[in-house]
Amino acid sequence: MKIALRKITKTPLDFQEKSEEMIFKGYLEYHSGKLILLQAKLSGLLEKSCDICAQDFKLSVKEDIEFFLSDGIYSGSDDIDFDVVESLNGMVDIEELLASEIELIKSDYHSCNNCKNSN
Ligand SMILES: [Zn+2]
Repeated sequence: MKIALRKITKTPLDFQEKSEEMIFKGYLEYHSGKLILLQAKLSGLLEKSCDICAQDFKLSVKEDIEFFLSDGIYSGSDDIDFDVVESLNGMVDIEELLASEIELIKSDYHSCNNCKNSN
């Protein structure tokens, strides 16, 4: 699902994207200047190998995701609390965002329940 950033207004625009394992659901809302707020929930069970014993296990994911999208290069003068992701083609690709969030979670350190319990 691709959305043109300039079509996003102060009225929140809902989106939902699914991968095999995860649901990414939220909205986009115009903030100010070039910035668009993205607020979403990422949930599901992610196949992951344990960083201790290397066994595959299902990682339960429930994350709130919040950041700004910038329509073009962001100059960074505003005082804002969230990360800014620049879009250079004026589009936001929700599917791509979902994929990169999943990659981010997978690259984090996670251990399976067996290893957690033995600590
Ligand atoms: Zn383990």
